[in-house]
Amino acid sequence: MSGLTDITARIERAARAANRDPASVRLIAVSKVQPLARIEAILDEGHRLFGENRVQEAQGKWPDLRERYGEIDLHLIGPLQTNKVKPAMDLFDTIQSLDRNRLAVKIATEAQERGTCPDLYVQVNTGAEKQKAGIAPDDADAFIARCREEMDLPVIGIMAIPPADEPPDSHFDLLAQIAERNGLVEISMGMSADFETAIAFGATAVRVGSALFGERIPTGG
Ligand SMILES: *Cc1c(COP(=O)(O)O)cnc(C)c1O
Repeated sequence: MSGLTDITARIERAARAANRDPASVRLIAVSKVQPLARIEAILDEGHRLFGENRVQEAQGKWPDLRERYGEIDLHLIGPLQTNKVKPAMDLFDTIQSLDRNRLAVKIATEAQERGTCPDLYVQVNTGAEKQKAGIAPDDADAFIARCREEMDLPVIGIMAIPPADEPPDSHFDLLAQIAERNGLVEISMGMSADFETAIAFGATAVRVGSALFGERIPTGG
């Protein structure tokens, strides 16, 4: 069984176990630092939804892959520097890492000039970890409102990376609650180790890398 068939089957099982429609959960294939051949194999199987965490790395492979494979839905799931906003908006269909006011202002300015903007998810630091990006849970409602109402940004979802050393359940629950009370339809949570749990808590998009492609091969950069 290929990695894609296996993960897809696991997503379907987890959705059914949670009394959810399997079609309500999308698989984001996290292709960062994966050899091109592995990415091509997944594309050859027909998968078209991918996640990358670095703008520059994504620029190096996706324009060419889009030329060869046609329409691909590409999500940025890693931190975005304000000086990379333009190339990020050129390349990505969705930016899941909207995590601070300065970035929102920059995206809004650029969106006004272009008359178009990628879909946006607000990243929430559910564990309030100092070293991790994301809006503090207590500030999420106000930030989401400001982005949508004052900056007219197309915020349609929410994303989190729970602390690695804790059970993710309470973090998934918190994220789903923030999404619900703000009327956000997309909930991006769950990775290789915990995507089935995330589905039980309402994830609409799971971000799976190593369980799908195999372990990432370090490149030293
Ligand atoms: C790398 C990454 C993933 C995928 O991680 P795996 O454990 O390999 O599934 C998911 N989300 C984000 C934000 C990542 O950077």
